[in-house]
Amino acid sequence: MASAAPTIVLVPLCVPGHLPSLFEAGKRLLGTSGGAMSLTVLFMQMTMEANLMSDVADLIRREAGSGLDIRFHHLPAVELPTDSHGTENFIMHFIQLHAPHVKAALSGLASPVAAVVVDYFCTTLFDAIRELALPVYVYVPCSAAILAIILRLPALDEEVAGDLGDMEGAVEVPGMPPVPAALLPTPLLKKGPNYAWTVYHGRRIMEAVGIIVHTVDELEPPVLAAIADGRSPTVYPIGPALSSVKAPREQPHRCVAWLDAQPPASVVLLCFGSMGGSFPAPQVSEIADALERSGHRFLWVLRGPVPAGARSPYPSDANVDELLPEGFLERTKDRGLVWPTWAPQKAIIAHAAVGGFVTHCGWNSVLESMWHGVPLAPWPQHADQHLNAFQLVSVAGVAVAMEVDRKRGNFVEAAELERAVRSLWAASRRRGGRRGRRPPRRRPCSGAPWRRAVRRTWR
Ligand code: UDP
Repeated sequence: MASAAPTIVLVPLCVPGHLPSLFEAGKRLLGTSGGAMSLTVLFMQMTMEANLMSDVADLIRREAGSGLDIRFHHLPAVELPTDSHGTENFIMHFIQLHAPHVKAALSGLASPVAAVVVDYFCTTLFDAIRELALPVYVYVPCSAAILAIILRLPALDEEVAGDLGDMEGAVEVPGMPPVPAALLPTPLLKKGPNYAWTVYHGRRIMEAVGIIVHTVDELEPPVLAAIADGRSPTVYPIGPALSSVKAPREQPHRCVAWLDAQPPASVVLLCFGSMGGSFPAPQVSEIADALERSGHRFLWVLRGPVPAGARSPYPSDANVDELLPEGFLERTKDRGLVWPTWAPQKAIIAHAAVGGFVTHCGWNSVLESMWHGVPLAPWPQHADQHLNAFQLVSVAGVAVAMEVDRKRGNFVEAAELERAVRSLWAASRRRGGRRGRRPPRRRPCSGAPWRRAVRRTWR
């Protein structure tokens, strides 16, 4: 039966780095609304790797049975664009094609719409939503520093004639120390379609009623303050918006079962996000060498190359016998696990046996790690990750520095990785060793300021 309670509509980008945190943020509005609001999620049918699809399917199944008033709406499939070069460019065209479907879905909902929250990749949907006179919020699943750069980009584009990646020196970003140009997010380094899209989003985000950003107040106060001082829409930090990690104890995942048998805070995790983990052979042997020499226990999520001709950028499962140096698995079998496919990262990071994390610095991985008090060694690869690493090491001072050669495909020498892994334990000892890995005491942001804003516009 149709409910008259207003609904908040989420329009996520259906990828692991964007969807779960927006979904979690949306739930925070419901958690305390006492049935006064429902949540409606509009899904675009992205063609994704089977593992990722099953994660999304799990999320829908879990939430459908959660007792919360959440409705899932699958938008009609669109013809995939065939003439878009680059992943971001393809995604932007793909999203743009959904505008009429989003408008039709919003018009057809049985509940009145209190607000629409779109992923920041989806600003091309603004016009369709505003034709219905609905308030639009933007969701940014990254740091406030990345948001500050995106908002700054339209002006920067006019100030700098050439490619930002060729600039000598640093870029001024509100609230940040000077940011070396070489550390800017990948799409901003060279002017091209992906760069142009980011400039476009930077302009259009300004049209939103508010911006919800997946960061934590205490983590980036100067950046949040600087954005608030500008002319941007009100910013609502919502992080960390991490989905729950309740693993079934009767049948734990093999990675979790392996961790159960390791001493507390003894294992270094190496995991590189949804698109990473696949390395050329020389890099694989440097990592193996570093792990052998460090003497630490390890859980290494190693992936195979992206399948030839695949449209999506996701790695395949690794053939570890083929990829790893001869004898490595045998020599390390008592203290290491090499996992060749998608791993339950949230459950792994939350596990007491994990004492350090070599991460690509995807923003979700950063927040997951910080939330559980696991020291980080950043090994950024692309997108926003180099800037995240800079922020963690040089601004916040919460991560161990590691020398990553961006010009050589982000190569890290074995000796450098070994040093960083050892430093993780030194950092952990300084913070109280095993006692340093306490479960979080702080409550995540409840979303109250954003909830109040939605209520105000709704009334
Ligand atoms: N993740 C996972 N298993 C994997 C790799 C990644 O569960 O094998 C999760 C990870 O916990 C995080 C998300 O996928 O929540 C990746 O987001 P992040 O922002 O860290 O990186 P991205 O994939 O966007 O580069």
